[in-house]
Amino acid sequence: AHLARIDATDGALGAFLRVTGEDALAHAVDIDRRREEGRPLGPLAGVPLALKDILATRGTPTTCGSRMLEGWTPPYDATVVERLRAADAIVLGKTNMDEFAMGSSTENSAFGPTRNPWGLDLVPGGSSGGSAAAVGAFQATLGIGTDTGGSIRQPAAFCGIVGMKPTYGLVSRYGLVAFGSSLDQVGPLARTVGDAARLYEAIAGHDPRDATSIHEAPPTVADRLDRGVAGLRVGVVRSFLDGDGVDAGVRARCAEAIERFEALGAEVVDVALPHADRALPAYYLIAPSEASSNLSRFDGVRYGLRVDGPTAEEMMARTRAEGFGPEVKRRIMIGTYALSAGYYDAYYLQAQKVRTLVQRDLATAYADCDVLVSPATPSTAFGIGDKVDDPLAMYLNDVFAVPSNLAGTPALSLPVGHDADGLPVGLQIMAPHLGEPVLFQAAAALE
Ligand code: GLN
Repeated sequence: AHLARIDATDGALGAFLRVTGEDALAHAVDIDRRREEGRPLGPLAGVPLALKDILATRGTPTTCGSRMLEGWTPPYDATVVERLRAADAIVLGKTNMDEFAMGSSTENSAFGPTRNPWGLDLVPGGSSGGSAAAVGAFQATLGIGTDTGGSIRQPAAFCGIVGMKPTYGLVSRYGLVAFGSSLDQVGPLARTVGDAARLYEAIAGHDPRDATSIHEAPPTVADRLDRGVAGLRVGVVRSFLDGDGVDAGVRARCAEAIERFEALGAEVVDVALPHADRALPAYYLIAPSEASSNLSRFDGVRYGLRVDGPTAEEMMARTRAEGFGPEVKRRIMIGTYALSAGYYDAYYLQAQKVRTLVQRDLATAYADCDVLVSPATPSTAFGIGDKVDDPLAMYLNDVFAVPSNLAGTPALSLPVGHDADGLPVGLQIMAPHLGEPVLFQAAAALE
């Protein structure tokens, strides 16, 4: 049924880069056989899932939304993919994304944009726009995204679904094409908090192949979904909710959600994050710096595309000139500049100091509050083409998302109604390091 739904709708939506229908059906048949034989099944047995094309899949091309990786077929599965298969989730295919996960609209894909199921002239958000649109359009029940600076939460908000970024280190990055290695986390997209919780539990866990993987068992969350919020302290990030540039409809729906927390017995207080206004500029130095280093591996020798030239150097230059799109080149240039001798102290090091200040702001807030809340995004979904020529306007989409990436702490976007145009609004809920149980508890109470 899901493959038929993709067939009927994806010509207009463009959520999938590749549908792996035969593999999906073979897995489904195998699950059926095991069930008939009374053999054990995984916790997500038979649940159809859309996988962002940034995770390596053995035998299935992985493009990262870039021409650079065209023709590359990974010889191995990402750990997350292994875990999904072990859980018996059925991978329907690989979804569209901004090239190398750089963007907030999925318009930076080399293979054309994905459209928003709430309006085909609107962006689905990004960079995990393909997975978010697939889940929002009922092409898949679950989706996998990645979040370096909002790329799960922002598209979830725009597509009216739940998206969650786990604590840094809880989900393995092995087999995830690296963007900003100190920020990247894989996480769930789903239509309900409970579905997101179960997908999070299936993918989280220690992995010796990821050097930053947390050794302790990941916190379980499914047992927290019906606890309510009585007695919890909910901190409202006032400067985010009341800030300039937040749409009236977004502010109204988020304010109502906060009132519901209070009605359900939570204690609601205002919190200040004094350095939060510097999180976005710091992110846009740190993420490109790490990207400029990570993307040096795409040299025409090791992966995918090669454009020949008279010398090895010329071959590499041509390959990178043709293989990367304009936003990726912009990031490589910003990052290379920020890391270069003479500018390192003024930009990269300064950004790292801001990162520490943002971490401390959040730690101070969590000393007093169980969770923090804010809008997930300043606006609802915007039009295709509206921001493609204005990188700064595009970057501002993630202004509320990046503090949790800089701090490595978990955060979630939850649909809380619609604006005057009928477009979904997302509330962001944030929690301290390894605070997944209270994060899901608070989100489930509002659903
Ligand atoms: N929109 C942000 C960027 O372009 C975040 C991307 C992401 O989280 N992968 O960098």
